[in-house]
Amino acid sequence: MNSEAYNQKPIVILGPMESESAWLIDRLSHQTAHSIGAYIFHEGKIDGYPVVICRCYIGVVNSAAAATLAIQHYNPLCVIIQGTSGAHDPDLHQGDIILGETIVHLGRFFTPHCDKGNGSNPFRWAPQGSEIVSVDPDQFTSILHSDSRIINTAATVPYSDGRVMRGTIGAADIWNKELDMIAHLHQILGSDCEEMEGFGVAQVCAQFDIPCADIRVISNSEWHKEEEFNEKFGESCQMFVLETIRRLIAEKTML
Ligand code: SAH
Repeated sequence: MNSEAYNQKPIVILGPMESESAWLIDRLSHQTAHSIGAYIFHEGKIDGYPVVICRCYIGVVNSAAAATLAIQHYNPLCVIIQGTSGAHDPDLHQGDIILGETIVHLGRFFTPHCDKGNGSNPFRWAPQGSEIVSVDPDQFTSILHSDSRIINTAATVPYSDGRVMRGTIGAADIWNKELDMIAHLHQILGSDCEEMEGFGVAQVCAQFDIPCADIRVISNSEWHKEEEFNEKFGESCQMFVLETIRRLIAEKTML
């Protein structure tokens, strides 16, 4: 990235799959690519402001690694993780956007003892906090938050592929298709939808004190038979996020 761009902290956007990142990468002007290990950071500009976009690959570990590298290399203004998700709230439908005011971990539990031969009952598992290693030591939490300035700006973006709602996004390395479990997670953790990256990115950002936001589109819902996973919604989310960062830049919200 040229020296002029380095005078401004770039906005970093992560998308796990090609269908969740390629459209945005194509929108960058003055583009160059910077590889760190397996990750390619596409550096460029949106409306004259430096923006870096990376396909972070699927899963909490992949996305946390990409976020860590991006923070170390770019000291970004903020990191936005975005892409598709599955509905936990039965009222959500394909195309709806969830602004993740809250981000919860859907894969961290402590199980009660169960004797051999008595099987497993995930409905009795107790949610546990993750150890957030930051300026505030010994902080364990299973709940993190997106930066309110990013969420408030996103809430002003016009959008026609569905509704835009503030909510709680859950993440873990699991794709739940069992409705009783989906309803249970919705009830005990308040998750409106699930995906596989957000908490990893939010945790790393919290630990390095970098503003972060998780913005997701609903691409599938087990509550509605016809709403099978459809990757085309990845583009709806990228279009929404592009308009969000345009507003962040134009309104100098975080500068
Ligand atoms: N099953 C798809 C691949 C998607 S893999 C296929 O066959 O092509 C999972 C990716 O989609 C992750 O990046 C995750 O964030 C997102 N995702 C979308 N809906 C999800 C759901 N219901 N549960 C978990 N992750 C989901």
